[in-house]
Amino acid sequence: MERTLAWQIATVTAIRPETARVKSFTLTLPNWVEQRAGQHYDVRLTAPDGYQAQRSYSVASEPERRGEIELTVERLEDGEVSTYMHDVLVVGDQIEVRGPIGGYFVWQAHLGGPLLLVAGGSGIVPLMAMLRHRAAIGSDVRTRLLFSSRTISDVIYSDELSRLTAEDNGKLEIFHTLTRAQPPSWSGYSRRIDRQMLTEVVAPLGPAPKTYVCGPTLLVESVANNLVQIGLDPAHVKTERFGPTGGVPRGG
Ligand SMILES: Cc1cc2nc3c(=O)[nH]c(=O)nc-3n(C[C@H](O)[C@H](O)[C@H](O)COP(=O)(O)OP(=O)(O)OC[C@H]3O[C@@H](n4cnc5c(N)ncnc54)[C@H](O)[C@@H]3O)c2cc1C
Repeated sequence: MERTLAWQIATVTAIRPETARVKSFTLTLPNWVEQRAGQHYDVRLTAPDGYQAQRSYSVASEPERRGEIELTVERLEDGEVSTYMHDVLVVGDQIEVRGPIGGYFVWQAHLGGPLLLVAGGSGIVPLMAMLRHRAAIGSDVRTRLLFSSRTISDVIYSDELSRLTAEDNGKLEIFHTLTRAQPPSWSGYSRRIDRQMLTEVVAPLGPAPKTYVCGPTLLVESVANNLVQIGLDPAHVKTERFGPTGGVPRGG
C-alpha cells in the first residue's frame, strides 16, 4: 500500500490528440502497479520556487496494459495543471504521479453486470477504462453507455467507441447525445440527459444494472437523482464528480 501511494517519476512516452481540447498522455512508470478500471492517479507539478499544484486524473487505459498508464486530459482555458499538460509537456518529459487511488468507483469483470455507464465530456475517461478492460478480457457483460458531448467534434474516443461496438457481439451499445449542435444526419439524442432519455436507455437492462456516472458535478447529480427516481437502487449507482460546473472537485 505504501509503495502504491508513493510519488514516482513517470516519463511521457506518447501524446495523442483526442479532440481539439483533449489529449491523451501515455506515462511509463518505474513502479507500475495494476490498477482497477475506474481508479485515478494524482499528478503533481512543482515550480522552480517550490510552488506545487496537484490534480487527480482517471486512468484511461485498461489494467491489462502493463508498465504504463494513459491519462486523458481536457484543457481548461484558465486551468493551472491541464494547460501545463497540454501546452508545455512533450514526449520525453518527466512528471510526478502517485496512484492508483480510489476503491469505490471501480468495475472489474468479476463484478458482472448488466452495466450502465453514463458520461458527460471528460467523464468518459474512467468509463473508457472499464470498456477497455471489458474488451481486453473478452467479457460479454451486457453494457450500455450514454455519452453526452457538446458537438460531434467534442466526442472523445469517437473512433475507438465505434470500433468497440462493431467488434462486440452485440452486448455493447452506445448512445450519444449532442447538446449544442448536431450534424445534419444526426440520429442520436440532441439534448441534455434527462429522465426520459435515461428511462429509454436503462429499461432493457432490467431493474438493477451496475451503474457508473461520471462528469461535471451538475450532470452527475442530475443523472443520479433521475436514476433513483426511475427506480434504480441508490446502492447500485456509483458517481464520480470531476468538478465544476457548480461545485468543488471531489470523488464519491
Ligand atoms: C477523481 C477525479 C478524476 C478526474 N479525472 C479527470 C480526467 O480523467 N480528465 C480530466 O480532464 N479531468 C479530470 N479530473 C479533473 C481534474 O482533476 C482537474 O480538476 C481539471 O483538470 C482542472 O484542473 P486545472 O488545474 O487545469 O484547473 P484549475 O486551475 O483547478 O481550475 C481552473 C478553472 O476551471 C474550473 N474547473 C476546475 N475543474 C474543472 C472541471 N473538471 N471542469 C470544468 N471546470 C473546471 C475551476 O473552477 C476554475 O475556474 C478529475 C477529477 C477528479 C476529482
